[in-house]
Amino acid sequence: MITLTNVTKTYEKGVAALKDISMDIDQGEFAFIVGDSGSGKSTLIKLLLKEFPPTAGKIEVAGKDLSRIRHKDIPEYRRKIGCVFQDFRLLKDRNVYENVAFAMRVTGASKREIKKRVPQMLSRVGLASKYRSLPNHLSGGEQQRVAIARALVNHPKILLADEPTGNLDGHNAWEIMKLLDEINKDGTTVLVVTHNMEIVRAMNKRVITIYKGTLMSDEEEAL
Ligand code: ADP
Ligand code: MG
Repeated sequence: MITLTNVTKTYEKGVAALKDISMDIDQGEFAFIVGDSGSGKSTLIKLLLKEFPPTAGKIEVAGKDLSRIRHKDIPEYRRKIGCVFQDFRLLKDRNVYENVAFAMRVTGASKREIKKRVPQMLSRVGLASKYRSLPNHLSGGEQQRVAIARALVNHPKILLADEPTGNLDGHNAWEIMKLLDEINKDGTTVLVVTHNMEIVRAMNKRVITIYKGTLMSDEEEAL
């Protein structure tokens, strides 16, 4: 589902953020990406979202070679990948319902589909009763749930999460990780960047460790 072959990313000014990384994540997998701050984790997520091309190497996502996606087709490509971030990135002047509905509207979904699916997604993340709230009236954990509902509303095959629990306390971090695990069990391929080693150890999933831009280890879950 996600294949990197000898991927290198060097930023302007010569910062080598990723060096010769190869990995293969299958459809339906759940994998953590861990590593110290500055090791290149967010760069990897940005490459998968085609925010910029790799300096060298090849990236394939859902059977597509990213170098072959034309500039004008990038927004459509991104909409097929769900993505959540540490800082939630919600529209602050719109309520919960509108934040999720917006993601469907930009795809041209009908009003009827939106009215049906947004409440389903909000129930899925446990926020059905808060649909009229503004983001800043919600806790961090609730805001991240809205972001997850928005990321999933168009049924992406892949969900990418860059430090999704970075701004949350221990309890909320666990709740969000459990939700990501359930979403994976429903069939979505999930890739989670995190610093929370306590959760990583407890969840017993594949763990890919990046160290200063190189792949240090890639360990399958212990059964
Ligand atoms: P992580 O997410 O693991 O903390 P990043 O991928 O954000 O790491 O960064 C990896 C390295 O690339 C760091 O040394 C960082 O300073 C550098 N870097 C990240 N973004 C840029 C950029 N836009 N321009 C130059 N250097 C960058
Ligand atoms: Mg980062």
